[in-house]
Amino acid sequence: MRIILIGPPGVGKGTQSSLLARTLKIPHISTGDLFRWHIANSSTLGKAVKAHIDAGELVPDSITELIVAEGLSRDDAAAGFILDGFPRTHDQARVLDAILETRGDKVDHVIEFTLDNADLASRLLARGRSDDTDDVIRRRLDVYVQERAAILGHYGPIVTELDASGSVEEIGERLLSALGARILQSLGVRSARSGHTVGG
Ligand code: AMP
Repeated sequence: MRIILIGPPGVGKGTQSSLLARTLKIPHISTGDLFRWHIANSSTLGKAVKAHIDAGELVPDSITELIVAEGLSRDDAAAGFILDGFPRTHDQARVLDAILETRGDKVDHVIEFTLDNADLASRLLARGRSDDTDDVIRRRLDVYVQERAAILGHYGPIVTELDASGSVEEIGERLLSALGARILQSLGVRSARSGHTVGG
């Protein structure tokens, strides 16, 4: 299963991606984590992306797409993956489609995490990452708001909105049931309760 989690910075996608990856036994590919690994290891790529990340700006597509293509080519990503933090622009979504098409795959589910700004701010403060300063947070949120509609428009019917409020456990349960409903829907299974196709 090929799943994308999208949402504003601090919404909890990283935590939920790694929990879901463990449950579904597929890799969690986070572009932000990959970039931070390169920065921590002072690689050439790390040096090239650091200023963009520190400023809350997007890393240029040429670099981002390289790192994603590498992540997706891992053997354990053949059966599926959870992408967290990619795509972040419409162009990146198109590039992802093209990469998947070469192997006869496509994205199955896109989950959009939503949370109000006050809750987002408190989650970001609790996390305390180096790019979680006031100005940089504001910039990252602006970048997200600018690109969000184009990405959601690109994926259309496979997008599910997820209320990302509450505890890690609550969000995790909501995420699993949303995915479960989508899977039943894609299989054309009818809900026993309503007699209607689940979610339809
Ligand atoms: P994240 O951990 O997903 O919040 O990402 C941290 C930072 O890494 C972002 O603010 C961007 O600077 C950079 N980054 C992560 N993913 C992407 C992407 N898909 N495209 C461009 N920049 C990205």
